[in-house]
Order: sequence, then structure tokens, then C-alpha cells
Amino acid sequence: MTSIALSSGHKMPLVGFGLWKVPRNACKDTVVQAIKSGYRLLDSAADYGNEIEVGQGIKEAIDQGIVTRSELFITSKLWCTHHRKEHVRLALEKTLSDLGVDYLDLYLIHFPISVKYVPIEERYPAAFFFDPEKKSVVIDPVPYQETWQAMEQIASEGKARSIGVSNLGADLLMDVLSYAKIKPAVFQMELHPYLSRKQLVEFTQKNGIAITAYSSFGDASYQSIGMVNQGESFVPLLEHKVILDIAKHHNVTSAQVLLRWAVQQNIAVIPKSSNPERIVLNTQVFDFTLTESQMKSIDGLNQNIRFNDPAKFLNYPIYAN
Ligand code: NAD
Repeated sequence: MTSIALSSGHKMPLVGFGLWKVPRNACKDTVVQAIKSGYRLLDSAADYGNEIEVGQGIKEAIDQGIVTRSELFITSKLWCTHHRKEHVRLALEKTLSDLGVDYLDLYLIHFPISVKYVPIEERYPAAFFFDPEKKSVVIDPVPYQETWQAMEQIASEGKARSIGVSNLGADLLMDVLSYAKIKPAVFQMELHPYLSRKQLVEFTQKNGIAITAYSSFGDASYQSIGMVNQGESFVPLLEHKVILDIAKHHNVTSAQVLLRWAVQQNIAVIPKSSNPERIVLNTQVFDFTLTESQMKSIDGLNQNIRFNDPAKFLNYPIYAN
């Protein structure tokens, strides 16, 4: 699998497998299937509620001799209840124990949002809600610097070989760069042709930080959870004529075109699928090249549509301007 060099000195595969919303009862087999299909990067998170099953899949793949631990690149993410310096390690230890590994390849701060601490023994994963019945969210601000310094400590001990950020705006990234002793190796962000973020991509890459795009298929991941409210004229990204025509030209699927558009910008992708055929197809993005004019046509689809926006589901507008 082609990879991207990280500032930490490690390499991250350009295509990985996303684990959000992979149901627990199918997760172990899905992970084995993904590894058999050639994925080496697994994009996990405490919040996805399936890290025990992800760990079972990893163990199974290693026991079957399909892969070794050192060939895998395992990412996980620090959840918003654990941003205080004394809680970061507790969160990491729980993730390591659930995944059954003794180090992560990459640990990301999931969101720049800090909510009131919920002990792991009380509720795990805790989601955003302090009281899940009342669906009450209690924001408990922690300076990002405090959390980042705790991440640096974990990196210096080797428990996470690389550390990074997710869901930031450029200004907060600039702030991190002003104090980071270990700068973020990776910035994971929502990125697809309806939200192409050219300036942020340029700034991030210029600073030697690798980008991972999530939700490469735009709305596809958000339809089933009622988070696509764009009105009647909205065209699902996978069905957009520009994408379909380019796919036809290269004799590939529209999903492959969307993934290729990102990797051709040296941006890693982490598509999620539970369909064995698509799991394989989503890795096949290295044997065709989009022309400059095809890249430009896809760039032209940008509408700054953000599907994963805490302003909508938390009333906490981190991207407001
Ligand atoms: P995605 O863009 O990978 O889309 C998944 C959807 O596309 C699913 O409904 C799937 O059935 C469909 N799909 C997959 N392959 C297809 C194909 N070949 N043809 C047609 N449809 C196909 O969406 P995602 O899961 O939101 O994002 C990928 C991963 O990114 C997640 O699983 C997770 O690991 C990560 N992520 C991170 C954050 C974050 O805050 N850092 C947020 C969202 C997602």
C-alpha cells in the first residue's frame, strides 16, 4: 500500500479502513475482511464503541498469519470527556487494552471540544452527553494546549508513535504550532469535493502535517443518520454527473474517483464499507490517474457543505465565522 511520510519519522498508508458505525456484532469479521483485502491502516476511535471487537479482529488476523502487528497502522482518538491532563492517559490505556495492543501508531484528539468528565467505569463510551437520558451536554472547557501537552507525553513514552489533531479550524492549528514541542503528524478532517478546503489543505501540507480525509463520499455516511438536510435539489456526491462521467472514462466506480481525487493531492483516505466487494474496490485507486482538467472539474463542485458539524448536533459552532 502506498504511504505518506509523517513528520514523526513513521509512514502512514494512503488508504485505510474507517470503523465508525461498524456494528459491534459484525466488527471482528469486518476487520479481518479489511486486512485480508489489503488494508493496513485501521481508523478506530473510543467513541465508535467497537474497539473491543476491532481488537478481536486484529488478533484474529495476526493469529491467522495474514499480518503482523508491525505491518499494521492503528489509529485511535481521544474522546471529549478526557481532555484534562490527568484523564488523557486513562483514555489511552482503555483504548490500548480494548484493542489488545501495547502502542498506537497514531493517537488523535477527536474534536476540539471538551465536555464534562465521565469516568470510564460509569459510562463508556460516554458520547457528548453528561446525562444521556436528558441528552444534556455540559461543556467543560480545557485549554487545547493542556491536552496537546499530555499527548506529547504519551508520544515521548512511545505509547503512540505519532500524535495528531482532528476537526480544527486553521486558527487553532496555528495556535498548536506556536507551542508544540512535537508538532501534529496528522490532521484528520472532513474533506470531499463538496467541502474541498483548498486553503486549509495548502496551509497544513506546507507545515509538514499529513492530511487524512474522512467522509470521502460526502453525504453517503450521513444519509442513514438523518444528517443530510440540503433540500430537494441536492445531488448525492456519489451520483453527481461530473463524478459519474469521470468514472465512466476510467472504467472505475464513482467511489474510486472520489478517493483518487484525494490521494492524488497526497491526502490519505479511510473509506468505510461493510460490502466485501466495495471494501476491495475502495483500495484500487493507484492504477489510474485523473487528468488536470478532471481534477479541476471535481474541484469545481465545492459548495462548502459540511455534514459533520457540531453546530448542528451539539449547538456548539466550532466552525462559525
Ligand atoms: P465514508 O465517506 O467512508 O462513507 C461511508 C458510506 O459510503 C457508507 O454508507 C457505505 O455504505 C458507503 N460506501 C462505501 N464504499 C462505497 C462504494 N464503493 N460505493 C458506494 N458506496 C460506498 O464515510 P465515513 O464512515 O463517515 O468516513 C470514513 C471514516 O472516517 C469513518 O469510518 C471514521 O473512521 C472516520 N471519521 C472520522 C471523523 C472524525 O471526527 N475524525 C468523523 C467521521 C468519520
